[in-house]
Amino acid sequence: MANAFWCIVEDDRRGAPKKVMAEVIGEAARVSSGQAEAVWLTDTATEAGLTQLAEWGATKVWLLENAALAPYRGEIWVGAAAELAAKERPKAIFAPVTSRAREFVARLAARLGVGLAADCVAFAMEGDRLVATRPVYAGKLLAKVTWAKTPWVATLRPNVFRPAEARPGRTATVERPTAATAAAQMRFVERREEVSTGLPELTEAEIVLSGGRGMKGPEHYVILEDMARVIGAAVGASRAAVDAGWRPHRFQIGQTGRTISPKLYMGFGVSGAIQHLAGMRTSKVIVAVNKDAEAPIFKIADYGIVADLFEVVPELTKEFKKLLEK
Ligand SMILES: Cc1cc2nc3c(=O)[nH]c(=O)nc-3n(C[C@H](O)[C@H](O)[C@H](O)COP(=O)(O)OP(=O)(O)OC[C@H]3O[C@@H](n4cnc5c(N)ncnc54)[C@H](O)[C@@H]3O)c2cc1C
Repeated sequence: MANAFWCIVEDDRRGAPKKVMAEVIGEAARVSSGQAEAVWLTDTATEAGLTQLAEWGATKVWLLENAALAPYRGEIWVGAAAELAAKERPKAIFAPVTSRAREFVARLAARLGVGLAADCVAFAMEGDRLVATRPVYAGKLLAKVTWAKTPWVATLRPNVFRPAEARPGRTATVERPTAATAAAQMRFVERREEVSTGLPELTEAEIVLSGGRGMKGPEHYVILEDMARVIGAAVGASRAAVDAGWRPHRFQIGQTGRTISPKLYMGFGVSGAIQHLAGMRTSKVIVAVNKDAEAPIFKIADYGIVADLFEVVPELTKEFKKLLEK
């Protein structure tokens, strides 16, 4: 439908949409006055997944279900989605900021010959134009941008937009168009699953604990993991810690790592270099623990503790435990 705001579904590869989709669908529905539609490219959709998308507010689900769509290869997805977009002419195409969606919608925008606003943190309709707000210069400034033509393609930062509330009983029409899947230039060789930490995913977590060079070695991250288990947090790291080989790169927060925007960010032994701030400065509440009172992170912290993290972390964990047991 020409007024539809499409939401590209990010899923767990097992048939369940990720919770970030509540934010994408919620924002698409808000800004389009209820015209959000989900577009799900997958090899395994589930009824529960379709219901979830409807309950979040998608009025229609375009289900492109085909074995050739897994594992993800941009060249195949783009052909299928571009063909559907050319036929259905959505007004906008939204996707969450994830590694896969980032690449996919950039390719899709290029294929459709339209602009892409990446990493958006706000949207507003101004007359009949959509205006997006996005951070630039490592988050130091916010730019407002708009598109020369439709569809307006954008990626949305996780944990910024208000998630749609799931309303049981809400239903969506499910369309199953046949997807033309191009012959792939790339061949799938092997899939390696990341070893699960048992903690929430860094970009999806509402609370993130970040350990920097002040952690002094990989063996000490266990104290952050202990706290994370108590309060349901993810554990990230600064680049200094990643470069030292203490944490894998997928846990790096910052300009050359992940961008996060949790409700609560707590930095331990992180100095607050501009490149680190670029990945977390939009966190709702920032807490910093650093033994140097002059550390730049205190300039953006809502709460700061000037102390040795090795004393503070076990104490905090103990207090959190006590509070949560009440
Ligand atoms: C192009 C480019 C891209 C980059 N991208 C990134 C990026 O994506 N992410 C990123 O993080 N960095 C990035 N950096 C690196 C960045 O500039 C900093 O070097 C890095 O963030 C520093 O990490 P840190 O804060 O852990 O270490 P440091 O700056 O060394 O800070 C360690 C802090 O720990 C404190 N400390 C030490 N011991 C204790 C203790 N016992 N208790 C409490 N506090 C203690 C110290 O006072 C100090 O403030 C990038 C740099 C460049 C040039």
